[in-house]
Amino acid sequence: MKAVVKQQLGDGFVDLVDVPEPQLEPGTVLLAPGAVGICGTDLQILHGRFIGYVPPVVMGHEFAGVIDSVGAGVGGLSPGDRVVSETHAYVCGECVYCRSGIYNLCPKRKGFGYGINGAFTELVRVRKDIIHKLPDGISIQEAALLEPTSVALNALTRNSRVLPGDSVLIIGPGPIGLLCLQVARLSGGRVTVAGTERSKQRLALAMKLGAERVVTDKELTEGISDGTLKNAFDMAVMAAGDASAFETALLAVRPAGRVVHIGETAVSAPVQLSLIEKKNLTVQGSFSHNWPVWENSISLVRSGAIDLRSLISHEFELARWRDAFGVVENRTGVKVLLRP
Ligand SMILES: [Zn+2]
Ligand SMILES: [Zn+2]
Repeated sequence: MKAVVKQQLGDGFVDLVDVPEPQLEPGTVLLAPGAVGICGTDLQILHGRFIGYVPPVVMGHEFAGVIDSVGAGVGGLSPGDRVVSETHAYVCGECVYCRSGIYNLCPKRKGFGYGINGAFTELVRVRKDIIHKLPDGISIQEAALLEPTSVALNALTRNSRVLPGDSVLIIGPGPIGLLCLQVARLSGGRVTVAGTERSKQRLALAMKLGAERVVTDKELTEGISDGTLKNAFDMAVMAAGDASAFETALLAVRPAGRVVHIGETAVSAPVQLSLIEKKNLTVQGSFSHNWPVWENSISLVRSGAIDLRSLISHEFELARWRDAFGVVENRTGVKVLLRP
């Protein structure tokens, strides 16, 4: 079967190649992905900047589709079922995090698309424990966005919390930022979204999705210098994978405010640590998600409380993966899907 594979370490080395079909094992299913999201992480893997990927590996971790076949010991799932899979391809099941239900923090966790073969292909093997059935009313395309939805929900309703009336700054108007916007709105937050000059289209979408205000990065920096946007927010969310946004976030929140970091980046940035101390700030990381967060996402999308359709800007056949990655890289779209 055809698959988009990261072949070796370094910048590039991604190709559409033939790979053997995965073998069904007890406790697993073979899932035929119908739509797979391209994530910022995939670009980092393409350019060799992501830490910990193990080539050769089939890429792709944001996927939904139909069950092709079911292994021994899998109850409640049948071929033809419409499903979505979590990203936690492997966890140990034994450690304190696994036993506490926060298996996303298992030190032995391996994710699809970098540690274990992922979904930019025709069939992917998935263990039964991370499969969620899709209700009618959620399309396979929308379901491919349940992963970033769960990232936003875990960050803003579990690891940190938006309270009614909170003013929230979201730095980064990509899919994660736009999902954080929607989650913050559901919690009663008033949201400002910041993005680069070239993400005007995404900022316009942010207004449509309920932002109170959008600003360019330049306007944000100027507002912090002239004082109008300094100490102005109860919470700042770093959703851009841009390390240099950290100090901006620390400056933008009020004393005793919260800064939440969810954007993936391997880059370090110097930061004025005294801001955290003097302003009595809480800095909260949020990584990934677990079962209850996924069920919560599914229910919010099914009820229409979260709009995923507006975020899907492009769909490409698998063979055109280079064009699709290009659209993500140029930020001319919002969420770009591949159709294996
Ligand atoms: Zn992702
Ligand atoms: Zn574990």
